[in-house]
Amino acid sequence: MTSPTEIRPKKLFIKTYGCQMNVYDSDRMADALAPRGYEPTQLIDDADLVLLNTCHIREKASEKVFSELGRLAEMRKDGKNFMVGVAGCVAQAEGEEIARRAKGRVDLVFGPQSYHRLPDLIARANAGEIVVETDFPAEDKFEHLPAAAKAVTLTRGLTAFLTVQEGCDKFCSFCVVPYTRGAETSRPVEQILAEARNLVEAGVRELTLLGQNVNAYHGVDARGRSVGLGELCARLAELDGLARIRYTTSHPSDMTDELIAAHRTNPKLMPYLHLPVQSGSDTILKAMNRRHSRADYLRIIERIKSARDDMALSGDFIVGFPGETDADFDATLSIVREVGYASAYTFKYSMRPGTPGFSMPDQVPEAVKTQRLAALNDLITAGMRDFGKSVVGRTLDVLIEKKGRMPGQIGGRSPYLQAVHMAGPERLIGTVQPVTIIAAGNNSIEGKIVTRPEPKTASVIESQAVA
Ligand code: SAM
Ligand code: SF4
Repeated sequence: MTSPTEIRPKKLFIKTYGCQMNVYDSDRMADALAPRGYEPTQLIDDADLVLLNTCHIREKASEKVFSELGRLAEMRKDGKNFMVGVAGCVAQAEGEEIARRAKGRVDLVFGPQSYHRLPDLIARANAGEIVVETDFPAEDKFEHLPAAAKAVTLTRGLTAFLTVQEGCDKFCSFCVVPYTRGAETSRPVEQILAEARNLVEAGVRELTLLGQNVNAYHGVDARGRSVGLGELCARLAELDGLARIRYTTSHPSDMTDELIAAHRTNPKLMPYLHLPVQSGSDTILKAMNRRHSRADYLRIIERIKSARDDMALSGDFIVGFPGETDADFDATLSIVREVGYASAYTFKYSMRPGTPGFSMPDQVPEAVKTQRLAALNDLITAGMRDFGKSVVGRTLDVLIEKKGRMPGQIGGRSPYLQAVHMAGPERLIGTVQPVTIIAAGNNSIEGKIVTRPEPKTASVIESQAVA
């Protein structure tokens, strides 16, 4: 039985670092704590529990965590009485080290596979233990994480993330994911459908399926068959009320024929694909252990575009990987020009202890990385601007998500995730409208809702038939 102290409303503040998967995980941690009386707060001053959901993908992540822990310790000295927990990939990778270095400043440290155990971990911390939980438990956390209440889901918006796959077996030589998130696993189809149904019934209109290597998805269905991401999207598309499906992040080698075909046959699958290549140089791709060449990547894109010609691409790029020469970097610039990305994320190579890249010779000096990043960013920004201009005059389906900043204005997202604003009534929020794009700015585009012809009434149709 729940004791009265357990249901006293308590306030939970979560600071999320890193990728969309961490955003999803933070929501699931809040869901796990809701039955114990924790309500989310945006104000750290009100919190009974502060969780830092950390990211380990690049250097300095753990330093950021320690400086945040220092700040929280100062707040506690000033009389704030909250418990402090560190979650996420830094916790997974450096659990014991955090507990040792931040003694007295942190109460619990736990990795991404333990979120369902959070209420118990808090109880142990309340009993005076400094909890460090970084095992990969045998049980499936998703089986034990409670679903969000419908009202809570709605406060999170009309679009939602849904993790379908975790971990990675690719071992790219720069990347910590296989170590922090573990081996590649896929959630069963029915479990995903149940979560999706719940979200859609609460009013969610767009789902982004998440995974560190999402297109390697191979979950088991109710009949015990292994199902790929294309078929999973087809099953999700059957949900009435769900208007749009996206997925991220994909590895080029896992763009199967089935998944590419799904872009032709599934109209709910958005024509916008995040497909990182990291580098345009074959030498660097090989050193990165990416398992494909530049030509392979370009061929995959050709196949995707022939499945759907309005497809646009985004990507990730790393500059300054060990051994990257000026010629290698020029190859990266040239692949950006050749593909014509609608958007991209760019990073300086960051040495990650424990990965093969860490001990490679010919590390690139910081100043060179900075120069290359600036040149790449200029090119990507110009490409983004060109892409924005290229949709002017086109009519795009826009998911209307919210009121606009100006009176009489509403805002939404194009299929290409561009923010679109336009004049229109608030009652359209939650619908998908055809919008003709009339102008493109740096961060958003402007459109005009296409007025649909009034449906003809039965009497008009009859009189036309008589005439
Ligand atoms: N699975 C995806 C793929 O294979 O393309 C990438 C997922 S990873 C979590 C997100 C991005 O972080 C990568 O695409 C890469 O560009 C960047 N990244 C990962 N490790 C990095 C490192 N050591 N230094 C710089 N960027 C890194
Ligand atoms: Fe990391 Fe992606 Fe490579 Fe996996 S495929 S190791 S997540 S970069």
